[in-house]
Amino acid sequence: MTSQATSQPTSRPTPQPFRATVLGTPRIGPNRELKRAVEGYWSGRIDRSTLHEVAADLRRTGNARLVEAGLDSVPVNTFSYYDHVLDTAVMLGALPPRVTGNAELADDLDRYFAAARGTDTVAPLEMTKWFDTNYHYLVPEIGPDTTFSLHPDKVLAELEEALQQGVPARPVILGPLTFLALSKAVDGGPEPIERLDEVLPLYARLLGLLADAGAAWVQLDEPILVTDSLADAAELAHRAYITLAQTPTRPGILVATYFGELGGVLSALARTPVEAIGIDLVAGAGQPVAQVPELAGKLVVAGVVDGRNVWRTDLEAALGTLATLLGSTAAVAVSTSCSTLHVPYSLDAETDLDDSLRGWLAFGAEKVSEVVTLATALRDGRDAVADAIDAARAALASRKTDPRLRNEQVRARLAGIAARGLRRAPAAARRAAQQERLRLPLLPTTTIGSFPQTVEIRRTRAALRSGAIDEAEYTRRMRDEIAAVIRLQEELGLDVLVHGEPERNDMVQYFAEQLDGFAATRNGWVQSYGTRCVRPPILYGDVARPRPMTVDWITYAQSLTDKPVKGMLTGPVTILAWSFVRDDQPPADTANQIALAIRDETVDLQAAGIAVIQVDEPALRELLPLRAKDRHLYLAWAVSAFRLATTGVGDTTQIHTHLCYSEFGEIIGAIADLDADVTSIEAARSHMEVLDDLNAAGFANSVGPGVYDIHSPRVPARAEIVSSLREALKAVPPERLWVNPDCGLKTRRTEEVVASLRNMVEAAEEVRAAL
Ligand code: GLN
Ligand code: ZN
Repeated sequence: MTSQATSQPTSRPTPQPFRATVLGTPRIGPNRELKRAVEGYWSGRIDRSTLHEVAADLRRTGNARLVEAGLDSVPVNTFSYYDHVLDTAVMLGALPPRVTGNAELADDLDRYFAAARGTDTVAPLEMTKWFDTNYHYLVPEIGPDTTFSLHPDKVLAELEEALQQGVPARPVILGPLTFLALSKAVDGGPEPIERLDEVLPLYARLLGLLADAGAAWVQLDEPILVTDSLADAAELAHRAYITLAQTPTRPGILVATYFGELGGVLSALARTPVEAIGIDLVAGAGQPVAQVPELAGKLVVAGVVDGRNVWRTDLEAALGTLATLLGSTAAVAVSTSCSTLHVPYSLDAETDLDDSLRGWLAFGAEKVSEVVTLATALRDGRDAVADAIDAARAALASRKTDPRLRNEQVRARLAGIAARGLRRAPAAARRAAQQERLRLPLLPTTTIGSFPQTVEIRRTRAALRSGAIDEAEYTRRMRDEIAAVIRLQEELGLDVLVHGEPERNDMVQYFAEQLDGFAATRNGWVQSYGTRCVRPPILYGDVARPRPMTVDWITYAQSLTDKPVKGMLTGPVTILAWSFVRDDQPPADTANQIALAIRDETVDLQAAGIAVIQVDEPALRELLPLRAKDRHLYLAWAVSAFRLATTGVGDTTQIHTHLCYSEFGEIIGAIADLDADVTSIEAARSHMEVLDDLNAAGFANSVGPGVYDIHSPRVPARAEIVSSLREALKAVPPERLWVNPDCGLKTRRTEEVVASLRNMVEAAEEVRAAL
């Protein structure tokens, strides 16, 4: 180790600026190798050394590809066995005592996976959405007993591994502000951000270790700085990075920000001695970067290639953006706007896409090439990459003129409906009309839609895909599933039944596959959390519904029972949120097109005799903009898209919606504005507080606060549900209260579902009898 006491910050050599990089990469493996290895390890199919080998191999080949493509600074420590926020908690010694103090957990890897997924005796960390993406991170818990300590083994090992490979490695670490801001206070401790001064010395020590190990640069990720979650973000950023920059021996510091604009934080950061600042010029396009004089001495890492969406970059426009920076900063490096964690690995596997559509796209590997092209243009002039620029221009031109991008009929219908307004009769009148038709008891019982997706169901779907069974056989088997689910619900005595959604692989993909304007990928997997990956559809053109999508299944289910069966649809905001969405028109316009298709489906369901229709919007909260000033506009168009989807039916058709995964606080007014007849909402874990909030927002429709948590295999006792319901009745009158679990049952086992629903129905009967 070099002596730290004598060197002065000013004596540090300025690190050589780099020119081309990405802020991070996917890590699950081009063919989900890591998913399979980790799940294999969990189930005991592979041993630990095999797991480590798979991981090391993925890192090595990943690094090599980035170097080969031409990046001169390569992010490392972007690998994770589960989640990078959890990795940071481990690095800072901030795992909860129930994990670190558990004698049954033999070592670090056991503790790591226990914190991530829980064990029979250890509850896992809570999981929540990473900013406004569909990636979920684990929420570190910081309590009065948390004493931070540095555990740099992972980052040092991944740095050393890459350096030995000859890679110009730049370790990536979640920055102190973002780490603390994303953590939650437990056991009555203060807000974690107040512990900044305890954490900074550990980061400083880490910087010293990284320098000693040979890192020329380090990237500290601070996406929290583009949000409003820290009240004094500019002051905190200034203080933290002045402190860290004072570390006597350290690599050059890149503070990477992404997912939006920095506002006043940019000049505060620029007034610290850090050498480089990463700026998102896609989500934060139009930030007045060139007007910040303090940036003059910095390397600006310009995120001009969209790291989150799948569209090919307009290289011409990106070069224009880069040109405006050149005069006002010391140096410019070309980068993705954020980590490419959020896009698939490569287009190579996408042999099913037609040539023009394929030409409009860039996945992870293609984005790296775009970065390199742009960096080459900066260094050698535009002519050096004229072919690439021309090819991008031609692809973009073909996209603009493709007939699939404009469906005039859809556009005309939308304009007409918008002009007529999106209203139904007042809620109370609708409630009376629906009660007249449905004749439900007080506290009606129902479920959120899905029943267990059994191995059998998944096999049947796979058999259809592989051609082992034909469409008719598939339909027959799915109908058998539906019949079994209807029978079960009748036996249990539920009041409003569902068909169980056996035919749906995924609540968005199912609709995307049937709508015009969407394309599916073969291998476009992105990590959602841990080993769970999703394959978001690509929404590239105007959306239209060639034919009904759910009517046959629902009417079949309805034909088997006298009780009402709920038609199940996914709402426009959720379909938008869980797809890669076209970037050539405002998301509100796209949402309205989806809404029109869903509206047509509700009308068809109604015509087929279905009296209750649920339009799920679990992602309503997820798309909420990171900046408070943008929220009003978002909520206005999101609510309006939902209303477009749900106001085509008559007053005797009962519209339900379902919301979950959320802190509802900021969107509670919008939930009231959706004006669904019945809203089922995740509340089992938030102890019904949400009901008081809804009342305060003037909500006067019916509500089904989830009475038990489906995320756990635990069967709730009847008495527990009874007391939840009594609690709920303090906030909601009995004629507006519904009884349901807090989310769909697809991940649960049939035995658990049967036992839980039995208790739920009995609890409802008990409470009803006492009214
Ligand atoms: N209807 C869906 C289901 O029950 C809703 C899922 C969700 O809220 N994410 O599975
Ligand atoms: Zn849900």
